[in-house]
Amino acid sequence: PPRRLPVGLGERTYDVVVGPGLLARAGGLIGPVLPARRVVVVTDSAVAPLHLPALRAGLEAAGIAILAEIAVPPGEASKDFSRLQEVLEGMLGAGVDRRTAVVALGGGVVGDLAGFAAAVAMRGLPFVQVPTTLLAQVDSSVGGKTGVNLKAGKNLAGAFHQPRIVLADTDTLATLPLRELRAGYAEVAKHGLLHGPLWDWCETHGAAAVAGETGALTHAVLESCRLKASVVAADEREESAEGGRALLNLGHTFGHAVEAEARFDGTVLHGEAVAIGLGLAASLSARLGHCSQEWPSRVIAHLTTVGLPARIADLPRRFTIEALMGRMSKDKKNRDGRMRFVLMRGAGDCFTSSDVPAEAVTALLRDEG
Ligand code: NAD
Ligand code: ZN
Repeated sequence: PPRRLPVGLGERTYDVVVGPGLLARAGGLIGPVLPARRVVVVTDSAVAPLHLPALRAGLEAAGIAILAEIAVPPGEASKDFSRLQEVLEGMLGAGVDRRTAVVALGGGVVGDLAGFAAAVAMRGLPFVQVPTTLLAQVDSSVGGKTGVNLKAGKNLAGAFHQPRIVLADTDTLATLPLRELRAGYAEVAKHGLLHGPLWDWCETHGAAAVAGETGALTHAVLESCRLKASVVAADEREESAEGGRALLNLGHTFGHAVEAEARFDGTVLHGEAVAIGLGLAASLSARLGHCSQEWPSRVIAHLTTVGLPARIADLPRRFTIEALMGRMSKDKKNRDGRMRFVLMRGAGDCFTSSDVPAEAVTALLRDEG
């Protein structure tokens, strides 16, 4: 049976529903939270042939009319203003009104793009997330951030727009390439490191989740969403400099630097960069005396077990220390020009720090690289 997690964000509480077989029951699950029984579905052209038929059948079985099905090309390039305009014109051209809901079927790209379209179309339409990547199920579909990229940087135009409901159908993950599944799992491991009991679970059952076992995936998604929702609820608009949403950046200061150096060309996926960032954050924490010297090897061992790169040396390419340091000193999450790291004392005990000496980071990268 599906599991339900009530999330209290934005003006209203909504449910994250997790489990197998949800697309076929989508109408029954979504219907009660919609103002009217009509929707537009936004997806990408890789996901559409795989999962749109089941969603369509699930909606139609409950008498929910689909006014339009809009598929954008797969990939990050679709998080773009001209694509947003196309989606908006498609929606309005299909006769959408203020009571028509926008349903996002796909990964984080579709969720961010369709969510932003829902936020701005007619000043705000009801929104439903049907995430089909592990990353989207455990991370991007919860928290209400939507948006597109600008030349000036990723996610620089956007809005907060919470969904009415999130349907995380674990069956959709069966068609996801293993590499994408593992990359999404890196965010589960991150949530585990922020919440001790989830980390213990990861060490025992994470491999089953990555192997596609439904029960393990359901637990991983549900507990990840629980952790993210509680962090977000305490700091919905990312106003806290110290704790709050900033903690979700664990592994991301290093991760973004690696990702930026790889230039989003597909050689390193976001989650893979995050996995390396988690390993480095643990190693940095040990060097600075915040955790035991054994802790980094335990973090790295788990990430390696599930098939993720966990050290810079695991990557197919080399990066110079200068390049990575340059990227980190320009990270958009920095305050007052200081690099900001999330460090750990152990699983479930993480904190942000803006006074890590640059020399310590350089020494770490020298010894690791
Ligand atoms: P994605 O949406 O590009 O999906 C990855 C690939 O998998 C795509 O090619 C897609 O077509 C394919 N795919 C999706 N579902 C599939 C399935 N079930 N079977 C087979 N193929 C499938 O990438 P993503 O990793 O899901 O999301 C990354 C995006 O999420 C980034 O743009 C990032 O900025 C954003 N993000 C947003 C938030 C937030 O809070 N809003 C948080 C984290 C990440
Ligand atoms: Zn991330």
